[in-house]
Amino acid sequence: MTAEKKVVLLSGMQPSGALHIGNYEGALRNWVDLQNSGKYKMFNCIVDWHALTSSSDETELLVPRIYEMAADFIAAGLDPEQTAIFVQSQVKEHAELHLLLSMIIPIPWLERVPSYKEKRETLGLDNYGFLGYPILQTADIIIYRARVVPVGKDQLAHLEIAREIVRRFHYLYGEVFPEPEALVTKHAVLPGTDGRKMSKTYGNYIALGDGPDIICEKVKNMFTDPEKIHKTDKGHPDRCPVYIYRTIYDADLPVDLKDKCASGDASVGCVACKKALMQAIVDYFADFRAKRSELLADKAQLDAILEDGAKRARERAAETMILVRKAMNMYGS
Ligand code: SF4
Repeated sequence: MTAEKKVVLLSGMQPSGALHIGNYEGALRNWVDLQNSGKYKMFNCIVDWHALTSSSDETELLVPRIYEMAADFIAAGLDPEQTAIFVQSQVKEHAELHLLLSMIIPIPWLERVPSYKEKRETLGLDNYGFLGYPILQTADIIIYRARVVPVGKDQLAHLEIAREIVRRFHYLYGEVFPEPEALVTKHAVLPGTDGRKMSKTYGNYIALGDGPDIICEKVKNMFTDPEKIHKTDKGHPDRCPVYIYRTIYDADLPVDLKDKCASGDASVGCVACKKALMQAIVDYFADFRAKRSELLADKAQLDAILEDGAKRARERAAETMILVRKAMNMYGS
């Protein structure tokens, strides 16, 4: 399939700290599969301006986090030749389109976004950038005239507002963009090590960059089925994070473990289960860790990859802005 025939896809993530295996299962693994399918022209954006909405007081952390994220993406299987990996702030067209879109979007549209209300109350965020977040997110997508955006089910509402913004632009100025569609990930949503949603806030995660000692410590402290206190108690493997992780990472998972746990068979127990999981996760991410370390030891190589990605992104974004300025009758268009 030629590059022109491929469907344009935009994916992105905020550089807000270490990526964890929940990010891997919920997003990265899917992106790598989509890339390897050969069907998509891929743009993968590290959205550093978005990170500022909640961390404008710790900007010194942004650059190290960008390097870590780029290394995580590549070590996980994103190939910079096939996927343009770049930093949002290196493609200024995102900002111009954000500004133009902000002139046509009523404030109540932004105020009714569920995550705005929720985070405004829980995190006390009240800056303009946070209110305007959905507009910048829309600009991130449509600046590439992307047709598809891979998302989890919990992000569908965000894409819906992007579609509404596109429709409003088209109503006012004529058609320029495809209405972006969701490509909902089929991969598993991993629970945290304590059974709650995996989150950096809860500290219940295993980072992709964690070394063997840290992995073992975190697995040792993992929750299992709270109703299985003794080996002979009947367990509920489907509610046990250790079992759920083993189904993904342990190629040697015994086929009868589930039944044995559920029936209270004394030949299986949580301590042995955790030991097997420790080794499985350490082995599963061994190549990833080696590649990640190698990349982080060579910042010049990462800079070259990010600059090449930004160059390819800027070319596409510049084409889009010519169409946008013309549609809006801007001076010089
Ligand atoms: S035996 Fe294994 S699957 Fe069963 S509750 Fe314990 S850790 Fe979970």
